[in-house]
Amino acid sequence: MTTARSQQPRAQQKCPFTVGVTGGIASGKTTVTDFFASKGIRIVDADIASRVVVEPGKPALADIERRYGPEILLDGSLDRRKLRTIIFDDADERKWLEGLLHPLIRDQIILELTHAESSYAVLVSPLMLETSQHELVDRLLVVDVPESVQLSRTMARDQMTEEQTRLILNSQMERQQRVGRADDIVDNSGSLTRLHRSLDKLHQFYLSLA
Ligand code: ATP
Repeated sequence: MTTARSQQPRAQQKCPFTVGVTGGIASGKTTVTDFFASKGIRIVDADIASRVVVEPGKPALADIERRYGPEILLDGSLDRRKLRTIIFDDADERKWLEGLLHPLIRDQIILELTHAESSYAVLVSPLMLETSQHELVDRLLVVDVPESVQLSRTMARDQMTEEQTRLILNSQMERQQRVGRADDIVDNSGSLTRLHRSLDKLHQFYLSLA
């Protein structure tokens, strides 16, 4: 029986200087990483890594299928919506799944970081502080906006009601707690021009550290 296992302790890997980017929903993580990417910086996205580890043919998908049966697949791929429903209010199943996937996602992130050839790399993750992913970064940048801005930007982008948006907001780490863990904070409550000015300074700073 194949069981997916984590294999790559970071200490044994050659990762570049890595800046972690995190923030709450619609805080502007993608907007921020798009800026760094435009400067030639390699972006490693934890959300993408989390999909890679359960691609068809990967051992983790076989483990999930063994536990939940073939109906967890949709045309051979993981039915993520069904899986979300299963773990939504079942803490044991959530724990099992996180125990399986988090080490694999971490390995995938490390693998991608080791291939980064830019002066420094950026790891972007909405769950940086809720998982051990923060251990993979040399410096943590938090994208910060007031809740009112998160609400209005999420509602505008995703056509969600205020009630739906608040449910997501309330399930995430509190703003002050996140900001308290940051090495650097970028305020994204103003214009894109203002954001880019702040990011330009941070980019120069990261180049000097890398
Ligand atoms: P998620 O948590 O959902 O992945 P995110 O943190 O990656 O979101 P973005 O997608 O970058 O956030 O931004 C959320 C929305 O807010 C997008 O529609 C984006 O275009 C918009 N936005 C981001 N920054 C600004 C800004 N400074 N001014 C106006 N709109 C902005």
